[in-house]
Amino acid sequence: MFQAALPIIAGRSENRMQSLQPVRGTQDLLPEAARRHRRVAETARELAERYGFAEIATPIFEFTEVFTRPIGETTDIVAKEMYTFTDRGGEEITLRPENTAGVVRAVLSNALVQSVPLKFFYQGPMFRYERPQKGRFRQFHQIGVELIGVAQPQADIEVITLGLRILNELGIGKRVMRELDALGNPADPCIRGGVPKVALELNTLGDPQSRAAYRDALVGYFSSRASELSEDSRRRLGANPLRILDSKDPGDQRIVRGAPEFSDYLNKDSHLFFAQVRDGLDRLGIEYRLNPRLVRGLDYYTHTVFEFVTTDLGAQGTILAGGRYDGLVETMGGPAMPGVGWAAGVERLAMLISEPDSPQPPVAVVPIGATAEGRALVLAERLRDAGLAVDLAYSGNLTRRLRRANRIGAFAAILLGDDELAHGAATLRDLGNGQQSEVLLTELPTRLKALAGTRIEF
Ligand code: ATP
Ligand code: MG
Repeated sequence: MFQAALPIIAGRSENRMQSLQPVRGTQDLLPEAARRHRRVAETARELAERYGFAEIATPIFEFTEVFTRPIGETTDIVAKEMYTFTDRGGEEITLRPENTAGVVRAVLSNALVQSVPLKFFYQGPMFRYERPQKGRFRQFHQIGVELIGVAQPQADIEVITLGLRILNELGIGKRVMRELDALGNPADPCIRGGVPKVALELNTLGDPQSRAAYRDALVGYFSSRASELSEDSRRRLGANPLRILDSKDPGDQRIVRGAPEFSDYLNKDSHLFFAQVRDGLDRLGIEYRLNPRLVRGLDYYTHTVFEFVTTDLGAQGTILAGGRYDGLVETMGGPAMPGVGWAAGVERLAMLISEPDSPQPPVAVVPIGATAEGRALVLAERLRDAGLAVDLAYSGNLTRRLRRANRIGAFAAILLGDDELAHGAATLRDLGNGQQSEVLLTELPTRLKALAGTRIEF
């Protein structure tokens, strides 16, 4: 379509825009992709509601401070990925790079802290200035949940379970993985129709005391080998040494392998909390892999951190990630209040799901003749009143209009000729087998629904 449109624009060269490409890292969601996205978001919302999470929508942009304060100046997001600008009124604004900070801001602005526990689901676009690649964009979409006000490990267990249930419902996930292992390794699911493999990785960052002790141990270890670290990691050493564990640099990873382990620095309370989370997952039969190197990019995490990862998306393997953020609400100026949640990348999930459901197949209304053209609009509306999807053939000869009907997947065509119209009838053509018969206009809805049969549920 894009190709076809070019010559017309090129012909009027004085009007030609500088670039018809979308901005780097952004993409158009054409109908097939939009359907995939919708399936992901709707499945997630429906299941989140089953767990008592209600949908919330916060603005796409906020005052910059809403993100810098909680996410932390030293994180990749704040240091180099935010879309920040000064608006016409001189306000410092940022397009949201994630939604947890926005949700907590909304909780505080709307004085909702009195009604904890709060359980929210969200979905929508996020913006990060990063290097675009497969599964990584500058405008992307997330679904996510936040459970605010519950300090007990049940909250962690429940949000993880909900995440897993969503993945399973989408045909991505653990239950599927066992079937897969028996079958062998799947190929790219989008191309060959295989089923993706997903694993849950789990770690704890402990409470703030444990975290501080571990931080000191890390600074000691990494300082002794600072000259071997990448420039990025040397920068993190002073500000956020935990992030070095997360480094993708092969040289850093070698050094990380010898780093102290968090489990040796967890105090009793932190151990107990983690044991309870694991016990709950065990009771529910949820398998996980302990990953002592798993840290989250953001500063505000405590205790449980987790990621659902797949090997089916190349380097961009994390599809759903989250954890507990007990310090966040207070950081943002609220009372001390625990929270736990996760976010998942819709683009990455959409790539992993099998074909989304097709839309309802339409009926094509094809007028032939001057009187019929006028009546076709009205007939199309009456059929839509009856719940049918109707596509009006606007122009061209009969062959052309029928070709379009086939192309859009219509199951039937209504041929409206002036003669038949004169006695209140039209020709109904079954596009499946080419058979046609004359039908009274008043009987059309019933006949069409019968013809659609099991393909459409009314
Ligand atoms: P990564 O290590 O891949 O950069 P992250 O730690 O920055 O991930 P989070 O902030 O935890 O990611 O976001 C949660 C999820 O959102 C990720 O697991 C991923 O699925 C998705 N996501 C994050 N950034 C992008 C992006 N630029 N494009 C597409 N999806 C993204
Ligand atoms: Mg990132």
